[in-house]
Amino acid sequence: MLEVEDINNETISIAGGGLAGNALAILLGKSGYSNINVYEKRPRIPVASEKVFTMALSSRGIKTLKEIGLFEEIKNISIPMRGRMVHLLNELFYSYAEKNFGEQVNFHFETRCQDFDIKEKSFTKINNKTGRSKKVVTNTIIGADGAYSSVRNQMIRLPRQEYSQSFMSHAYKEIFIPAGPNEVFPDVHPLLTNLYEDFETNPTTPLVTIKTYPWSYQSNVALIGDAAHAIVPFFGQGMNAALEDVLDLYNCLKEMNEKQQQKTNGIVYSNTFTNGITFDRNVFEKAYKQYQVNRKSSSDAIAEMVIENFVEMSDKVMDKLFQRKKKVEHLLEEKFPQRYISRYELISFSTTPYIEAQRVGEINKSILHELTKDQDTESDPSNVDLDKADELIKKLLSK
Ligand SMILES: Cc1cc2nc3c(=O)[nH]c(=O)nc-3n(C[C@H](O)[C@H](O)[C@H](O)COP(=O)(O)OP(=O)(O)OC[C@H]3O[C@@H](n4cnc5c(N)ncnc54)[C@H](O)[C@@H]3O)c2cc1C
Repeated sequence: MLEVEDINNETISIAGGGLAGNALAILLGKSGYSNINVYEKRPRIPVASEKVFTMALSSRGIKTLKEIGLFEEIKNISIPMRGRMVHLLNELFYSYAEKNFGEQVNFHFETRCQDFDIKEKSFTKINNKTGRSKKVVTNTIIGADGAYSSVRNQMIRLPRQEYSQSFMSHAYKEIFIPAGPNEVFPDVHPLLTNLYEDFETNPTTPLVTIKTYPWSYQSNVALIGDAAHAIVPFFGQGMNAALEDVLDLYNCLKEMNEKQQQKTNGIVYSNTFTNGITFDRNVFEKAYKQYQVNRKSSSDAIAEMVIENFVEMSDKVMDKLFQRKKKVEHLLEEKFPQRYISRYELISFSTTPYIEAQRVGEINKSILHELTKDQDTESDPSNVDLDKADELIKKLLSK
């Protein structure tokens, strides 16, 4: 018989203390909610404070970090695009949350959650060190537990829950190349001292795209980040998409709280939360619904675009027509700034919704096709008909 933790009406439970879970916990704390509990199965990994690392976030993730109030701190630090980066970023989140919202946000490390009951809003938490288990009954469960989410595994048992997972024929393996005295290629070979050993021993990770819908059930549960939509890593957007989810959900909660406040008090609510806000089932249900509608089409769009990007990178880079189109695209970006923007630019350096980037990307493709279809692939790309390009951009891309 499991021990049952007291039912506490203020509790928000977040399964998974990764980037999405931590960022959301902080924003909920900032909103004035209290008793926010984040359960993370891994231990807290200490990070040497003197370490310098490079930033690998795009403007999408940055927007969320600004809302959290952590961007200034992160801006001066650089993060390599490796697993280590995630630990460093998570550690920043933990210490920031402890410093600013220590009363409201509690982290439970080495605590795995399982046996989620979506209707009862309960789960079992297990302390990895002691093996002790306890049943937790909560107000709402936020599944931020990554691509292989246990919360989602429970949700897919609900009637009419859509779910798909598809694996690429390629897999992923990390090989470490230590920093050399400079970055030119002749230096690389001697640095690959462990190449063969690493290749043999490092784990091979499958590359999976996971889609599911809906992302919530009443006010009981919601999925965020990779738990809601795992994508393959070829655009470097998974973390950015996860942080976009967090900001969207935070904004939806804010909007629904304001509406609720107006309804009950007849007064206009200020655009920030007041401290000491209480959990309201109605608000959470509406916010979850709005958030999933806002984010689903964009998350599908990025999932599709990443696969396309992989095909381009692996199959088409040597293709003469593809190379020519890329050169013409660069020329158009240079000659028609702000009017012709490549899909890559929209995804990686803007906060344009992914679904809009996909739409524009399709139009860009047709423009490039029109401009290159009658030309010899060997001819100079700068000979492209710029008047025709101007006309096509006006006709197809001007809103
Ligand atoms: C090879 C590779 C390279 C990538 N490169 C980039 C990049 O350059 N830029 C980018 O934007 N994205 C990148 N990503 C994607 C990015 O890492 C993820 O999209 C992002 O980490 C998702 O955040 P999350 O919080 O949703 O999930 P996660 O970061 O996976 O966090 C989930 C957390 O939940 C915990 N957890 C899981 N199950 C339980 C449980 N039952 N109980 C308690 N805790 C649990 C896990 O320990 C984990 O800490 C890359 C991914 C891969 C695989």
